[in-house]
Amino acid sequence: MSQTLQAIRGMNDILPDQAEQWEQFEELIRDWLRAYDYRPIRMPLVEPTSLFSRAIGEVTDIVEKEMYSFEDRLNGEQLTLRPEGTASCLRAVLQHNLLYDGPKRLWYMGPMFRHERPQQGRYRQFHQVGVEALGFPGPDIDAEQIAMCSRLWDDMGLEGIRLEINSLGQSEERSRHRADLITYLQQHESRLDADAKRRLHTNPLRILDTKNPDLQSLVEAAPKLIDYLGEPSLKHFEGVQALLRDAAIPCRINPRLVRGLDYYSHTVFEWVTDQLGAQGTICAGGRYDNLVAQLGGKPAPACGFAMGIERLLALWTAQGFKHERSAPDIYIVHQGEAAGRYAFRVAELVRDAGFTIHLHCGGGSFKSQMKRADGSGASLAIIIGDDEAASDHVTLKPLRDAVEQRKVAFDQVAESVAQLIFGNEE
Ligand code: ATP
Ligand code: MG
Repeated sequence: MSQTLQAIRGMNDILPDQAEQWEQFEELIRDWLRAYDYRPIRMPLVEPTSLFSRAIGEVTDIVEKEMYSFEDRLNGEQLTLRPEGTASCLRAVLQHNLLYDGPKRLWYMGPMFRHERPQQGRYRQFHQVGVEALGFPGPDIDAEQIAMCSRLWDDMGLEGIRLEINSLGQSEERSRHRADLITYLQQHESRLDADAKRRLHTNPLRILDTKNPDLQSLVEAAPKLIDYLGEPSLKHFEGVQALLRDAAIPCRINPRLVRGLDYYSHTVFEWVTDQLGAQGTICAGGRYDNLVAQLGGKPAPACGFAMGIERLLALWTAQGFKHERSAPDIYIVHQGEAAGRYAFRVAELVRDAGFTIHLHCGGGSFKSQMKRADGSGASLAIIIGDDEAASDHVTLKPLRDAVEQRKVAFDQVAESVAQLIFGNEE
């Protein structure tokens, strides 16, 4: 016997009950983004591999080991399933010269692919909502993006999501800090684990966000980037904090918040919950002023963030979100050939009037069809037998209230249905 085919590990089906929660979330997201005048953009799922190595950096986890890369069999091009959206978004913006008439606020939503070890909250195909503001140099846009997130948590009724922020300054400041950090870590090289040793000369900043408990005291005492920031960087960081104070959004400065991607500068932030175990970061972002130029564009400042939809929805469920199964307004049951053809016409007629209709398909006795009508959650059944078909009538049977069923003529159906359904709601 052949074995049933399975989805690829770490790539999940989103089944109807769950998919309806996703749709509800997506509706909320669209309204929320419109409230801040962000416009949608959609990029391909596959990009040239070089885009990501250039944008994200050769020595990051993503580029070193997490990308799904392959060669196009026909022309030998090196391609990659996008592991994140910022690089693609900027590629699209530059390719189509979208910044020609000023700054832009853009957003996208969709699947991302990373070859990680699958576990709760960490998948190989996962989904992000990404937001990018391009061409804005000041701290106001950083703070607005943080306030946006805060509003979304409120809109979703979520609680207990902490904000952590930090500043990564500018590249000269980071290089001076990096040199001192390497010297410091070298002095304690015997205490480093294999991962930290590997990163010592490639990406030492990442060592600061190690999860290894044995390294905590070492990294606590390491030189802090914030002590290397000059006046303009501090002013930017202070500007963000002042706006957050005005908006009454509490935050904690976490000097070890460094982000996994190389392209960040100045503000970085993360929203974290304790309710999802080890995968507690639901949203992360910050400023990346050098990326546009790094990708060959005319320099333009930029700030953005991405949230992990799976983690956010898991939190929503954990905090009491109840999924309501979508139900049709009306379930149409019918028996006999003439009745079937007539039912088809009735269904379209009532859909014209704006109702959602489940037309029974596949035959069966009236009894078994009525069982399905009940299970569908519809508030009304339309019953059509040979009698009804022959006389151009239908029988309307309320399913949720003790109201008598009644027979109405074809041209009265829409009106009577409206009466029964809206009448019920009052
Ligand atoms: P982590 O430290 O958890 O690996 P990251 O720094 O790699 O996160 P980002 O690249 O900043 O994550 O992505 C933004 C958000 O996308 C994360 O905060 C998280 O919510 C979500 N995310 C990232 N990777 C995954 C994944 N493999 N599965 C599910 N969600 C993810
Ligand atoms: Mg990661």
